[in-house]
Amino acid sequence: MGKPILLSTPHMGDRELEFVKEAFDTNWIAPVGPHVDAFEQEFCQVTGASYAAAVSSGTAAIHLALLLIGVKPGDEVFCSTLTFAATANPIAYLGAKPVFIDSDRLSWNMNPDLLQEALAHRARIGKLPKAVVLVHLYGQSADIAPILKACNQYHIPLIEDAAEALGATYKGRTPGTFGHIGIYSFNGNKIITTSGGGMLVSDDSELVAKARFLATQARDPAPHYQHSTIGYNYRLSNVLAGIGRGQLLVLQERVQARRRNFKVYHQALGTLPGIAFMPEADFGKATRWLTCLTIDPIAFGADREQVRLALAQQQIEARPVWKPLHLQPAFAGCESIGGAVAEDLFAHGLCLPSGSNLTDADLERVIDAIAKAHNSN
Ligand SMILES: *Cc1c(COP(=O)(O)O)cnc(C)c1O
Repeated sequence: MGKPILLSTPHMGDRELEFVKEAFDTNWIAPVGPHVDAFEQEFCQVTGASYAAAVSSGTAAIHLALLLIGVKPGDEVFCSTLTFAATANPIAYLGAKPVFIDSDRLSWNMNPDLLQEALAHRARIGKLPKAVVLVHLYGQSADIAPILKACNQYHIPLIEDAAEALGATYKGRTPGTFGHIGIYSFNGNKIITTSGGGMLVSDDSELVAKARFLATQARDPAPHYQHSTIGYNYRLSNVLAGIGRGQLLVLQERVQARRRNFKVYHQALGTLPGIAFMPEADFGKATRWLTCLTIDPIAFGADREQVRLALAQQQIEARPVWKPLHLQPAFAGCESIGGAVAEDLFAHGLCLPSGSNLTDADLERVIDAIAKAHNSN
């Protein structure tokens, strides 16, 4: 049995340590500094975003986005149901209520028709949500245009959770840069990482300035410590921003490596009965941050859990597709609009090891273990 093969691990390039050393040499060991400023600027260049604020996590960025939009206790916020809990937790931090929206089969992301219908219905009964949080899952953009159109029609701000989609495109542009506010994550398992970190982007310079203000304890311009609003300690460290600058330089290589993993898996396993890979919608290019597939237990001869456990026995980490948030005990009692598609993807979906640092031998081991799970049944 070989060494463990993990789902998605950090993959440093050649320059990160140089930037970190520069932070040490100049003693910029603080949540401000030249690397933070440069990381924000370079991030804008890479993504096409207008303005960016580097923060301590993607979750912090979502929290700030909701604050900036003015979400208050009792407000409702529409949110993709098929996602990580961090997408919706900040809605709860603010005492607001998430309303979960189901996925479509085309991209596994929020179903635009369902959103349009739900907003039309809510407009009729005078109960529109305060915001929509749209997730771009597993490296693939949602179908942003009809979603943005529906939001604009009812004057609802759109927050894009692009934590998993840095490096992807939607009609040639970067998901996360279409809505009112976009957010990204640099957690250790994302396509590039600062160990922990996040980014908030917007076309509105004042809004991004306000994000920086809130993220640095909301200090009013005064020589003494003066605060007219509640602040947060959410800025990114200058040391970690140095890592981020190095990682941005290799983003495209990381996208190519993850897309190659997908291609290898797809070629080897795509013809097995009962296996279907997450589709790539024709409106954009996915990064294949994680290679995901669904398993039809009858056709394949083993169900998702059996395959996952067979992989675990070979020291291979695979994970079920996100458990929809409308099924999570933490969100019990929250309204859900549809949900059957997300439930089906959760029941049958598996994420395979997908790191950009996997070797051909690693991929071979994963493929063999899945093929064996098929043949032994
Ligand atoms: C990782 C992730 C987040 C949270 O980002 P952190 O930087 O870990 O706080 C939010 N949403 C989605 C969809 C994610 O995958």
